[in-house]
Amino acid sequence: MPIDATLPYDDENIFAKILRGEIPSKKVYEDEWAYAFHDIAPQAPLHILVIPKGRYVSWDDFSAKASADEIAGFVRAVGTIARDHDLVEPGYRLLGNVGADGGQEVPHLHVHLFGGKPLGRMIS
Ligand code: C5P
Repeated sequence: MPIDATLPYDDENIFAKILRGEIPSKKVYEDEWAYAFHDIAPQAPLHILVIPKGRYVSWDDFSAKASADEIAGFVRAVGTIARDHDLVEPGYRLLGNVGADGGQEVPHLHVHLFGGKPLGRMIS
């Protein structure tokens, strides 16, 4: 069920629970700013979710309220994960769903990182 991205942050959302270690996840990366894990329902041979450690509902929330350090740390983490998985030369896709029309279901900002095969063009 897509969410309303203007709602306040919910500390009981599933990614908050993953960050607190209350729900298991297949971790691929962690630093001061970001945590990343394999999507439970992969849509590509490699499907990683990258989330900031801060309490942000969506890209809108994050871009408006996060500090420059948080934003830089998160963006650098995404790039590091792609490089660590040797995705730069073959390429990969980043996707961020925001709110109801964007189809966002989990109300903690996340970027989907897809790779591992030619993904084709996607505008839908
Ligand atoms: O962008 P959106 O909110 O739609 O994506 C949420 C993603 O979180 C889905 O791809 C879903 O498979 C994933 N998920 C997960 N582990 C959970 C719950 C959801 O990887 N425990």
